[in-house]
Amino acid sequence: GVVTASGWALDPDTTGPIIVQLYVDASDYTMVWADLPRPDVAAVYPSHGPDHGFAISLAVPDGQHRVCLYAVNTGAGASTVLGCAIVGTQPLPACYYGDVPTRFQAYDDWYRTLLDTIYLLPSTYAPGDLVDTGAAGLNSGYSVRGLVVNDLRDMAQAARAAGAPFVVTSAYRSYATQVSTFNYWVSRIGYSAALLTAARPGHSEHQLGTTLDFTSPSGVEPWDYSDWGTSAAGAWLRENAWRYGFVMSYPPIVSPSVTCYTYEPWHFRYVGRQAAAAVHSSGLTLREYLWTTWGG
Ligand SMILES: [Zn+2]
Repeated sequence: GVVTASGWALDPDTTGPIIVQLYVDASDYTMVWADLPRPDVAAVYPSHGPDHGFAISLAVPDGQHRVCLYAVNTGAGASTVLGCAIVGTQPLPACYYGDVPTRFQAYDDWYRTLLDTIYLLPSTYAPGDLVDTGAAGLNSGYSVRGLVVNDLRDMAQAARAAGAPFVVTSAYRSYATQVSTFNYWVSRIGYSAALLTAARPGHSEHQLGTTLDFTSPSGVEPWDYSDWGTSAAGAWLRENAWRYGFVMSYPPIVSPSVTCYTYEPWHFRYVGRQAAAAVHSSGLTLREYLWTTWGG
């Protein structure tokens, strides 16, 4: 995470700006000049000049940390402690089956809503801007949020042009639909196996309206392949989906240990091109990326 502080600082010995330091655990630190306009401060201390504001930030690793802010003295004397605080982010929790309301559950938070086997959406979460996947030039009968359509259309076109066309086999699923979906998998493979391949109601990224399952034009379900990720469409998506804002939520090797679900080469969540590129270059899973970027 990142710790930020802002305020003002001045030294009675000078009208010029002074330096403010931000320390983490008394070792790592950064500093800035407190030289931003603060007319409100200048009104109270008119003889010290107008510009004594500051804004400072520093990355902190996971865990609890003591941060302190200092005003560095000009001339004789020690620095002044402006304040200290314990801040911190918790490390990404190991996978378990919980029902913790996810932190970002507004419809505008679609790009940062963390869903896994622990965190879930309320049953009432149902985006109002769903459109048919036909709007993206794909097979119709499934729904996604309107904000997904342009990049989905571009991705589908690029895949067709590359000789790796895909079709949609699932997209938005309401809470009620996910009840049926999960129960279907329980009946098909048993409860404990279902937990690893299907999300319990409220935990599914499909409820966001930004997530799709793709398959090849034959229509055979991708989970009925030995590894759909090696099909033309699957391989193309794995390599290129991020360019269009989509992330494979459950990639191989780190699934299920990090992602909490088994490898799903067909399951892609839209997070926008910028975030998808960041996930791609970070080498993190989406679960790790969302946690480290936005917190749990
Ligand atoms: Zn899926």
